[in-house]
Amino acid sequence: MPDYGHPLEFGAFITPSNQPPETPVLLAELVEGLGYDLVTFQDHPYQPAFHDTWTLLSWVAARTERIHLSANVHNLQLRRPALLARAAASLDLLSGGRLELGIGAGGFPEAVSALEEAIPIIRGIWDAAERRPLRLAGRYHSVDGAKRGPAPAHDIPLWIGALKPRMLRLIGRLGDGWLPSYGYMQPGEYPKGNAAIDAAAREAGRDPREIRRLVNIGGRFSAAGGGFLDGPPAQWGEQLAELALEQGTSVFILASDDPATLQRFAEEVAPAVRVEVERERGRAGTSTGAVRSSAALAKRATGIDYDALPASLARVAVEPGDARHARLAANYLRGGSPGLVIEARDVADVQAALGFVGAHPDVPFGVRSAGHGISGRSTNHGGIVLDLRRLNAIEVIDEQRRLVRVGPGARWLDVARALEPHGWAISSGDYGGVGVGGLATAGGIGWMAREHGLTIDHVVAAELILADGSLVRTSAEEDPELFWGIRGAGANFGVVTAFELVADEVGQVGWAQLAFDASDTAGFLERWGAAIEAAPRILSGEVILGGRRGGTRVAQFMGVVDSDDPDVVLRTLQPLAEVAPLVDQSVVITSYPAVMSNVSGAPHSATGEPHARSALLHHLTPEFGRWAEELLDAGDSYFFQIRAVGGAVSDVAPEATAYAGRRANFSLAAMAGPRSRIDERWADAAPMFDGMYLSFDTTGGEEAARMAFPPAHLERLRALKRRVDPGNLFRDNTNIAP
Ligand SMILES: Cc1cc2nc3c(=O)[nH]c(=O)nc-3n(C[C@H](O)[C@H](O)[C@H](O)COP(=O)(O)OP(=O)(O)OC[C@H]3O[C@@H](n4cnc5c(N)ncnc54)[C@H](O)[C@@H]3O)c2cc1C
Repeated sequence: MPDYGHPLEFGAFITPSNQPPETPVLLAELVEGLGYDLVTFQDHPYQPAFHDTWTLLSWVAARTERIHLSANVHNLQLRRPALLARAAASLDLLSGGRLELGIGAGGFPEAVSALEEAIPIIRGIWDAAERRPLRLAGRYHSVDGAKRGPAPAHDIPLWIGALKPRMLRLIGRLGDGWLPSYGYMQPGEYPKGNAAIDAAAREAGRDPREIRRLVNIGGRFSAAGGGFLDGPPAQWGEQLAELALEQGTSVFILASDDPATLQRFAEEVAPAVRVEVERERGRAGTSTGAVRSSAALAKRATGIDYDALPASLARVAVEPGDARHARLAANYLRGGSPGLVIEARDVADVQAALGFVGAHPDVPFGVRSAGHGISGRSTNHGGIVLDLRRLNAIEVIDEQRRLVRVGPGARWLDVARALEPHGWAISSGDYGGVGVGGLATAGGIGWMAREHGLTIDHVVAAELILADGSLVRTSAEEDPELFWGIRGAGANFGVVTAFELVADEVGQVGWAQLAFDASDTAGFLERWGAAIEAAPRILSGEVILGGRRGGTRVAQFMGVVDSDDPDVVLRTLQPLAEVAPLVDQSVVITSYPAVMSNVSGAPHSATGEPHARSALLHHLTPEFGRWAEELLDAGDSYFFQIRAVGGAVSDVAPEATAYAGRRANFSLAAMAGPRSRIDERWADAAPMFDGMYLSFDTTGGEEAARMAFPPAHLERLRALKRRVDPGNLFRDNTNIAP
């Protein structure tokens, strides 16, 4: 019988006794402390002396930190599969991916058929990437249009507790693990069971190694060498190592409620088994790599050489067949179905990932910090995504200089919260969920832009990994040309793994939300624009317009006045409030993090392709107002947003950073539906515009680069690109072709 090469794990099988109620919980805490990998409980909800196992699992999950949990096993006659799947996904999410699912069918004649129907229901509920509702009509279990999801935090394996031949064949076809109790088997039955599972797996086109072999064991520590698991710990160790090496068992679950036995097993038996198995595997050259299921393999994208992925990335690589993929596929505004997501944990992972990407020049490649890119190019279909969300550290490195080091995966809400206790803030954008990486390499037009400038104006140094894998630091003194380029066109030159930024002193601020009757749209825009230009710099904000309702169009203004003095706030807002009749208003003094707390923590779930256009303008002229009114009346944009810039943004010379649009007082962004004539309208209005902000435009590629950068900038950027990324590794963005 083969050794399947699975990692060895040790578990405990604890009675879910409720007398007294804390008993199994204390034992679970004990075994976690002893280093066990798994704690399991039988599930007999009709037993008054036992806890309900789901409730107990939830409680134990909350009281422990590391150990995995499972029922041993759930009876699917009593736990309906759709509900069980949802409960399991919830507990897996709450416990940080620590739940495993042990199931059995109960001892009735049709158990195999019932289990065969239940398994696709469980997996169907977890398949959150599938948009169609789940419909499966069976004899024992049916669902008719069930909503899918949530996707669990990890691929919850289905371990099946069974002994009879038909059941073993089912495990071979559909299971992820076999979980029998060794004591209930006749001599020779265990190897026979494994062989039956292997044969059924092969027949179904599966690799037998896809099925984990677990076993419940019980025994007695005694002085004299008796029978199986009846002797001193050394004898136990030898017997279990033999089971691992000759019969492929990799998870040993000790049934005991005795703390001394549990401790002795953890301290004397488990290490001995590990040493022996490791030694023997080393000698025999047993392959111990992860085995992907044939179903998961079938979902792989063409063009990606998965086998060439560096071993160091195996634990952070997520493929379409993985449960986690559904949470990582989409962006905030664009749907996606990447063939591989690499969730980098550190600089070394980024370097290894870029090496792998370099070997795939024809595969789409997205760099994602928080996935709020409006063009959505940080995800893709069938390509590779380098996900940086885990690189999200925020640390103050120099209190005197207000110098902060921030990872690209942090969100601006996190940054706002981390800086508030110091009395600081960095003007970033209007939405707390936007990532540091995408915004701080492009511009950053935020709630305090007119007073404190763009986010990139606060960047004083950055560390990035270039296309050749080298880690470089750039600042005004260290490769100043690269430092110039990454402040406005950063996506083209490397992956920024850390930014150093200088924060501003910011206390409580005035937060205004004013709704205007903007039915006279052209007139409103002209007056609003003039009021913004005349306002002191402590006022920044944006106005959003959409369609008309019954002839009325409402314009929603949101803005910050950087002052905690209510009189100053109101005085600053008054001229703005007079540009058109107000239909609603709210002004409060609040914290900057509160203004940025407009974030949903849910995973991105966008579908389809966004379409947005951007333009920078000096003034909102009558001509612009008429053009905008016509465009909105025609329904060519459902979200038409004008942000105030100018002020401190314009204090920086256009040639000082790659971000060139310094003379503009306004930044326009328009989201459009699929049948919109937005591109034609943009072409008509081109003479009114002075470039665009690449973060708000979905055009992408070289065409977008020509709109975002004036010729002299573009030439300089191209020279830089030729130096640091001649092969155009960083290509799926506003691309500067080398
Ligand atoms: C709801 C919403 C509100 C917004 N509000 C504002 C706003 O007020 N002001 C503003 O200026 N912008 C705003 N934006 C635009 C936003 O700043 C940009 O889209 C930004 O790129 C998003 O950053 P991200 O890291 O979340 O995006 P991602 O989608 O992760 O990345 C976007 C692009 O940036 C590049 N990139 C990402 N990380 C890195 C890195 N570490 N190194 C190098 N390149 C990288 C990649 O090319 C990627 O395609 C908003 C976007 C949304 C969706």
